[in-house]
Amino acid sequence: MNRPEIHISFAPEIRPLAAPERRAGRTALATDGSSTLGHVVESLGVPLTEVGRLLVDGRETPVSHVPRQGETVEVCAVDRPQRVPGAPLSFLLDVHLGTLARRLRLLGVDAAYESEDIGDPALASQSAAQRRVLLSRDRGLLRRREIWAGAFVYSDRPDEQLRDVLGRFAPPLAPWTRCTACNGLLTDADKEAVRERLEHGTQRTYDVFAQCTACERVYWRGAHHAQLQEIVERAMSEFGGAAV
Ligand SMILES: [Zn+2]
Repeated sequence: MNRPEIHISFAPEIRPLAAPERRAGRTALATDGSSTLGHVVESLGVPLTEVGRLLVDGRETPVSHVPRQGETVEVCAVDRPQRVPGAPLSFLLDVHLGTLARRLRLLGVDAAYESEDIGDPALASQSAAQRRVLLSRDRGLLRRREIWAGAFVYSDRPDEQLRDVLGRFAPPLAPWTRCTACNGLLTDADKEAVRERLEHGTQRTYDVFAQCTACERVYWRGAHHAQLQEIVERAMSEFGGAAV
């Protein structure tokens, strides 16, 4: 069977996802003569969610192209900020990204998340039905065809994950407007109206400022406020001006 040999290279940003022998630079690859370029790229470990332009002999080429003998393929990373069709921009995070979900919500970014594992097919169809960008560190999940849009989260550290997502998608930020527990929108709270939800010490010490319109959770400036304030200030100073 004819097995065309091509040469392929990955942009530095996405090399960590590629098979180890493909990370140094341009390498030779025998293809099967029938698989599309998209399939070839994914079979080397890189989900198409991470791929921007595909250049074949320097020309931009669709993922449906079937590589031919002697072609040189450059796999580029997605542009940053990445534009996702179908505004407003919203996200869906897999079960391993709970901390990132709460931090996105703290910044007012619409971030759906279930703490129980609903499984890859359900996540993928939720992404499609609600037009949410699926965030995951699972490459198999990101390869599912039905997802609306997706992004691999490169770091396992919440600080770096947050910077990665904010830098990549530049979502508009509106701190303190969304419930970190359920993603609902917050509204101004009247301290008298929420009195029965607060313990006595809380009433005396803390200043209630918001209540969730979905789960009715009450927010006040309390024990963790300084730490959350720091996360907000850091994000706003770096990404607050990027809102569109
Ligand atoms: Zn809530």
